[in-house]
Amino acid sequence: MEHSNFIKNIIKEDLESGKRNHVITRFPPEPNGYLHIGHAKSIVINFDLADEFNGRTNLRFDDTNPLKEDSEYVEAIKEDVKWLGYDWDGLFFASDYFEEMYNRAVLLINKGKAYVDDLSPDEIRAYRGTLKEPGKDSPYRTRSVEENLDLFERMRNGEFGNGEKVLRAKIDMKSPNINLRDPVIYRISHATHHNTGDKWCIYPMYAFAHPIEDAIEDVTHSICTIEFEDQRPLYNWVVAETEMTASPQQIEFGRLNVTNAVMSKRKLKKLVDEGFVDGWDDPRMPTISGLRRKGYTPEAIRAFVRETGVTKGSGFVDSQMLDFFIREDLKLKAPRTMGILRPLKVVITNYPEGQVEMLDAEINPENPEMGTRQIPFGREIYIEQDDFMEDPPKKYFRLFPGNEVRLKHAYFIKCEDFIKDENGNVVEIHCTYDPETKSGTGFTGRKVKGTLHWVEASQAVPAEFRLFEPLLLNEEPEEAEVKDVADVEANDDAAAETEKSFLDYVNPNSLQVMNGFVEPNMKGVEPQEKFQFFRHGYFNVDPKLTTKDQVVFNEIVSLKSSFKL
Ligand code: ATP
Ligand code: MG
Ligand code: MG
Repeated sequence: MEHSNFIKNIIKEDLESGKRNHVITRFPPEPNGYLHIGHAKSIVINFDLADEFNGRTNLRFDDTNPLKEDSEYVEAIKEDVKWLGYDWDGLFFASDYFEEMYNRAVLLINKGKAYVDDLSPDEIRAYRGTLKEPGKDSPYRTRSVEENLDLFERMRNGEFGNGEKVLRAKIDMKSPNINLRDPVIYRISHATHHNTGDKWCIYPMYAFAHPIEDAIEDVTHSICTIEFEDQRPLYNWVVAETEMTASPQQIEFGRLNVTNAVMSKRKLKKLVDEGFVDGWDDPRMPTISGLRRKGYTPEAIRAFVRETGVTKGSGFVDSQMLDFFIREDLKLKAPRTMGILRPLKVVITNYPEGQVEMLDAEINPENPEMGTRQIPFGREIYIEQDDFMEDPPKKYFRLFPGNEVRLKHAYFIKCEDFIKDENGNVVEIHCTYDPETKSGTGFTGRKVKGTLHWVEASQAVPAEFRLFEPLLLNEEPEEAEVKDVADVEANDDAAAETEKSFLDYVNPNSLQVMNGFVEPNMKGVEPQEKFQFFRHGYFNVDPKLTTKDQVVFNEIVSLKSSFKL
């Protein structure tokens, strides 16, 4: 399925007009957390574009903020990109370019295009003005080239404390574009970096570093999300004024937001750190690792993000659309099986005691090539608690006193009696079966309306089932994130302050754990194997919690939905 989009059109024109003779894209995550499904969109866009135009795609870690970054995240990100099905051409770290970035900053100072400023972060923000009001020059803006060179070198040498000085680009404090009002391009941060250790105590800001990284790698089309649109003039200014030979072009597209989820590593980290989930790969997380553990496949994720399209707008996409694609993907692949989540024992009183027979069951009726399996049937079986009612309402076609139902792959059984415990709970059902009605014999003597799944009791394998509801109860918890280099990077705490509220929407009932039974042929299933449990939905074998004595299944998605593409 080939979708055209505006970025493809730009690249096509660039190649046809001769503006470019090759295509290089990059996926540039900051290793400050695990990737989420929003990143999957960026990954798919970048790799697909290179693929279509015979180009290359780099994986580049944008690691310019030592306080937030960690090599644990580097490894997790590599694993996720590979799992999604992509092979990068070059693997780079922004931090490998620190020396070159420093030299380019010195070049700016020499050209009179950068200066060391002693204003505090708060003062810098106040001097910057607003959309309506022009900014004011810092009193340090007129420092001489010599003084700036000296101070910048001393910043590098560690003579100043955090926040005492910054290096700013000297552009235009009256620009209608606030990003051009002398943005900070270097800050002091005495912190150990995951890659460069203690070699540096000054670090470049995103807006300065990113264009240089792109240009060093000869990235032709630097694709980023829409909130960077206003920074494009600054991006171009940096490429030109630092005299990079390559000329990457920044192109923005709309972020992917998915209902009932937040798409921000910073926010997801909060959910992890504050114990709302059991790690970045908790199946309720919208992370790639969480989706993987829940049981989504790379095929489904890729199909989903492609279907969301590449546009300038960033709306919310219904998470049911992702569920549609996982059903599509698993429909023909996942073996069918039967599992009982809330067991209720049924005794078939006219079935010989001690006898167990083996029945044939198709593995996937939609994909007959998958063949058949053998399942035991005997005098005692488990059914679901809610497949029996003592006093059923109209149109209840499952078991109730006097009613007959079909057991999938087996016989008709009729409810004759039931036993309650001292609390009034039904604990056992007594039925009779009719040997004439055996599945596959073509019995047509009478019809029943209900078909139940079941598991033979003596050979049933205990299993844990985990069912999930959205982690966040607010459908659209993510306000469009305003990226302001100075605010977000230099003053993360201020940004974090405004984000508290999303934790108020955490769903206290997002995880439900049930203990039931599965068919004996499920013994020895492997982590990440996926099944369709008849009448329940698709489930994945949890890779973290499954032990050799206890298999744990995560519900991926229920069987049916009203969602249509
Ligand atoms: P986060 O706030 O989650 O850390 P980010 O934009 O800071 O997001 P980066 O690690 O810098 O994350 O992102 C790497 C790439 O992924 C960037 O090009 C970024 O624009 C893109 N990206 C991040 N989130 C989304 C999203 N929700 N939809 C599409 N692309 C995204
Ligand atoms: Mg970022
Ligand atoms: Mg970020």
